[in-house]
Amino acid sequence: MPELPEVETIVNDLKKNILKKKISGVEILKKKIVRNSPQTFKKTLVGDSFQKIFRRGKYIFIELKNADKTIVVHLRMTGQLIYQKDKKIVAGGHSQGDELEFSNKHTHVIINFKDKSQLFYNDVRQFGFWQLISSDEMAELDNKIGIEPLSREFSYVYFKNLLTDKNSNIKSFLLDQKFIAGLGNIYVDEALFLSRISPYRRLNTLNNKEILSLHRAIKNILAKAIFSRGTTFNDYVDASGNKGSFLAFLNVYQRDKKKCKRCKKENIKKVKIAGRGTRYCPACQK
Ligand SMILES: [Zn+2]
Repeated sequence: MPELPEVETIVNDLKKNILKKKISGVEILKKKIVRNSPQTFKKTLVGDSFQKIFRRGKYIFIELKNADKTIVVHLRMTGQLIYQKDKKIVAGGHSQGDELEFSNKHTHVIINFKDKSQLFYNDVRQFGFWQLISSDEMAELDNKIGIEPLSREFSYVYFKNLLTDKNSNIKSFLLDQKFIAGLGNIYVDEALFLSRISPYRRLNTLNNKEILSLHRAIKNILAKAIFSRGTTFNDYVDASGNKGSFLAFLNVYQRDKKKCKRCKKENIKKVKIAGRGTRYCPACQK
């Protein structure tokens, strides 16, 4: 599932490719992916162009130039965005595997640009969506999304205040998008590992040192993952595969039953917390 670093990466890549191009056609192959009527969606887009694309949490926002509307895209579990111009391909979102396939049976939306380039939306499990929204709806959605963890506003003090008077479990708290935006299963488990905090802990049991350490871990892991272009991310330029390289740096993700890299005593254990597969080291996470 694409998390903040993967979404940030595809947004940055698309920024260089899809803006200011006249949209000549829109194909909606799976109606339920687009939450507007196909007519409205097509009529609004065709003839217009995208003027801005940005990320907020795990949401992607694409502003139209003429219409006072923004498209919101959420990739959820398996959404992928793939841009193609001649032999150049830029892709991101859910991991594609080694073979990049597009315009296949999992392609649900196609945006055709006047310069013959195309933007495809693929989604195997079809939990993702596209929706045209007004600026009011946009503000409403923005209000529901928590703080950006890489922003300056997300300080140690802010984080500490966010935890105060809460008794919930640390893992479910970090996954909750209304508190902190963009963290998902992979980066929550990694941040807890780095700060040596057990995923079973309750918020009101964390001391200042642990809060500081966790705050630092969240910022560090996300920044590093963006630098490496994400974990579940593949990017293909001129059809030469160039995978997101972060996997090698991860300490618990996909390391079930493998020896902990830090203490080298215990194996990484996989349990279920907050309904999610959770990996941690029972020896060095307290
Ligand atoms: Zn360990």
